[in-house]
Parts: sequence; structure tokens; C-alpha cells
Amino acid sequence: MTTVIDGKAVAADVVAKVRVAAEQLIAKTGVVPGIAVVIVGHDPASQVYVASKGKKAKECGFHSIEHALSSDTSESDLVALVEKLNADPAIHGILVQLPLPDHIDAGKIIQTIAADKDVDGFHFTNVGKLGTGELDTAFVPCTPAGSMLLIERALGRDLSGLNAVVVGRSNIVGKPMANLLLNANATVTVAHSRTKDLPALCRSADILVAAVGRPEMIKGDWVKPGATVIDVGINRLDGGANGKSKLVGDVDYAGAAEQAGAITPVPGGVGPMTIALLMANTVVSAFRAAGQAAPR
Ligand code: NDP
Repeated sequence: MTTVIDGKAVAADVVAKVRVAAEQLIAKTGVVPGIAVVIVGHDPASQVYVASKGKKAKECGFHSIEHALSSDTSESDLVALVEKLNADPAIHGILVQLPLPDHIDAGKIIQTIAADKDVDGFHFTNVGKLGTGELDTAFVPCTPAGSMLLIERALGRDLSGLNAVVVGRSNIVGKPMANLLLNANATVTVAHSRTKDLPALCRSADILVAAVGRPEMIKGDWVKPGATVIDVGINRLDGGANGKSKLVGDVDYAGAAEQAGAITPVPGGVGPMTIALLMANTVVSAFRAAGQAAPR
């Protein structure tokens, strides 16, 4: 029997715990966790993400502010805003929604965010901490952190000795995912567009994470029987109900579900975890700022 991993339920559980932690912090110290979300321009998908982050932050009892800037905002003005937020004691998490317009160097903006408010986990300091296993003081990028939580819940056991294959080597998903699995004592292989015989490699995986951005690329017969399959992909295809687009992952769900021991659906798998982990990182940041031990 294949277990369908319910990311919505796990994410709701994470958010409920964040809310309780926030209430406890406020009661004990008066510190209200604060998050600032910055968006530049009018990309419709980004606007949807930013609105849902603000809504979720309110649900968690956070102080939440949004800076919506016009697409012609200069890089220096954006740097100045981030520096102002870095210095604002009411803000514990700063998130600059990507992508940014072409005239702004996204890397420079990310590195301007104070590492101890970088709840996206993209600052070099946090990347380095994850790479060296300093997880207690790092911020881990939200999508891989959420995927890891789903893996732990699905397997309910130590990952020592398991083979993990991560398909995709981006800085925001593939590489941090590989580091998390390595920290958890899995034996990790990272595959990418130059990897030879990807199907055979995938078939060796007890844990298979797909973060490619290619609709249904990973086929059912690439999946080892009983494997845990985490599909990070979000691809919009034409042909959904009522003329809308439909969402599919990077895994051929129907085929893979016949082989897998546990698998995440798209939507309803990894997707809801990302925003939940963003809230979790923000409350942890607020605990750290208040000199309190952060909840796990
Ligand atoms: P990127 O485009 O940054 O990276 C894609 C990776 O896939 C690259 O490493 C690339 O290899 C590799 N790749 C591309 N084609 C192939 C191929 N044919 N065979 C093997 N590897 C291949 O994507 P992201 O990491 O940002 O995102 C991956 C997916 O996850 C996307 O669908 C995205 O929408 C989704 N996503 C979902 C999130 C969520 O909240 N659930 C959050 C973030 C992303 P190479 O490096 O060699 O080019």
C-alpha cells in the first residue's frame, strides 16, 4: 500500500505549533514575532505568494508588514529598505520575493539581508552553517526544510544507511536538500542535467527527491519499489478544469505511486510546507532575538 503524504495536514500542524510558540514568546517576553515581505513589481504569481505569506503570518499571530515597490525601484533604494528592516527591532524575518526585475542584482540584495533575519536561508552565512552542520543557529531554506520534515514523518525512522537521490542542484532546493539528507546520515547523490543514466540512478534511491522543473519527467519505472518519493516540482500545464491551468509535479504521479512506499502529491504535498517553514523560521528568529531557546 502506498502512503500519500499529506503536506497540507503536516503544514497545518507546523503552523499550529508556530502559533502556540508565538503566544508563549509574547506572554513571556512581550516580543511579537515580526516579518517583513518585500515585493518589487507586479508579477502575478509573486503577488499571490506574498498575499498568502501575509495571511499566514497573521494566522500565526505575527506582526506582518508588506512593502510593495514599483518595478522601476532602483537597486540602491531596495538596499536602503533592506538595511532599514535589518535595523528594525520589531522585524525578525525579512523576505524579498524573487524574482526581482533584471536591473536589480538579486544576489546583492540577498547578501544585504542580515543573516540573523534571513528566514529564507539564502545568505552565505546560513548556507555555510547548513553546509557545516551548524543547524542549531542556521536558517534552512524553507522548501527543502519542509521536504525533510515530510521525509521524517513518512519514514518515522533514522535515515542512516538509506540511499537518497536528489534530482536538481539549485541553491534554493537541490543543494540544501542534499545537505539536510547528508546531515541526517543518508548516503546522498545529487543528479542534474549532465547526469548519465538518470533512470538507473533514481532506481537506486530509497529516498527520491525531484526538484527539476520539468513536468512529470520522473517515470514510474524509475522508482524503486517501496521508495519515499518527494516531488518538489510545480509546473503549470494547460488543460485544467474550466479552462484553467493544472498543476503537475516533476514526477509522473500515477506511475510512481504504483511503486512508491510513500509519495507526495502535487498539489498538496511539498507546496504547503514552504510557507509553514517560513513561519517556523520567523518564530525561531524572534526567540533568538529575545534571548530565548527556540522551539524545535
Ligand atoms: P532550477 O531551474 O533552479 O533547477 C533545476 C535543476 O534541475 C537544475 O539543477 C538542473 O540541472 C536540473 N535539471 C534540469 N533538467 C534536467 C534533466 N533533464 N535531468 C536532470 N536534471 C535536470 O529549479 P528550482 O530548484 O528552483 O525548482 C525546481 C522545481 O521545484 C520547479 O518545478 C519549481 O517550480 C519547484 N519549486 C517548488 C517550490 C515549492 O514551494 N514547492 C519552491 C521552489 C521551487 P543543471 O543544474 O545541470 O542545469
